[in-house]
Amino acid sequence: MTRANVWRMEPYSSARDDYQGSTASVFLDANENPYNTPVNRYPDPRQSELKVELAKVKQVNPAQIFLGNGSDEAIDLLFRAFCEPRIDNVVAINPTYGMYQVCAETNDVAYRKVNLTDGFQLPVEALLAATDDHTKLLFICSPNNPTGNDFRLSDMEQILRRFEGLVVIDEAYIDFSERPSLLQRLQEFPNLVVLQTFSKAWGCAAIRLGMAFASPEIIGILSKIKYPYNVNLLTQREALSMVHRHYEVERWVKSLKAARAQLIAELGKLPVVAHIFPTDANFVLVRVTDAVALYNYLVSCGIIVRNRHSVTLCGNCLRITVGTRVENERLIQALQSYH
Ligand SMILES: *Cc1c(COP(=O)(O)O)cnc(C)c1O
Repeated sequence: MTRANVWRMEPYSSARDDYQGSTASVFLDANENPYNTPVNRYPDPRQSELKVELAKVKQVNPAQIFLGNGSDEAIDLLFRAFCEPRIDNVVAINPTYGMYQVCAETNDVAYRKVNLTDGFQLPVEALLAATDDHTKLLFICSPNNPTGNDFRLSDMEQILRRFEGLVVIDEAYIDFSERPSLLQRLQEFPNLVVLQTFSKAWGCAAIRLGMAFASPEIIGILSKIKYPYNVNLLTQREALSMVHRHYEVERWVKSLKAARAQLIAELGKLPVVAHIFPTDANFVLVRVTDAVALYNYLVSCGIIVRNRHSVTLCGNCLRITVGTRVENERLIQALQSYH
């Protein structure tokens, strides 16, 4: 599966890689400035402490975790590790998160889109039919962005069993879903890569921290080709502090799910709303009478939602993030005053 050049290469060996003990107190190995602690020192390139703590929360082995500068880094590295430019291809559902295609194009790897079914479910047979001997990755985002819904677990299991390449399941919104994560099934599916992020439920979009979970073999390959210090000290610290305050995330999720139910109920009463799609995420896709006009009206009220009108299967749809109860109420009031 791995590109031959990547398989053969030796990773860059940093000063902090060469020495890994914890007993030394004089560090004259990395040409750092001895003043201005703590940011004068290079951060841990392996993020060992953070991985150990995260492994407890996620109930996986630290060797099954890759940490990067957002999930976006993990997505890009999957292309660079496994896809030979101009020869290999990847398959993805459509519509979905835009970064898979951006990374495919950056890496000159053909990106094959397969439309979701009318009910926004997985087109299992069509996805498998789109693969060939050069298909290395198959992307499934569940809950899916921008549709908001989760896919049937049995459909994802079928793809994991029947596709020979890596199946990347992006679980950026899994905390808002009732479906169990696929994290606990990494042993059962050696071709599974699960993506999660600190940017949504964890409330840390600014620190740029994404997680990929997979077999230690796959994680080893991603770690070998990443930039040595891809996760900076400030991010590692803030993430550790968040992991220790994990109960906060659970509180936020609970309250956002309640606010989501309320928002959906209120949206359902509005004449401008034609359809509300089922959601398992912290946003809701809504079909309205005229998405462009309504989007512009909301902007004039100082309220920004995402206009998805030009996205496949999402004609006249707006994607609305669940905010605080006050924010959601302001949106509803603005929509009630729309004529
Ligand atoms: C928001 C989002 C992410 C998060 O990306 P980061 O780079 O970790 O901020 C990943 N996948 C999907 C589908 C998303 O919507």
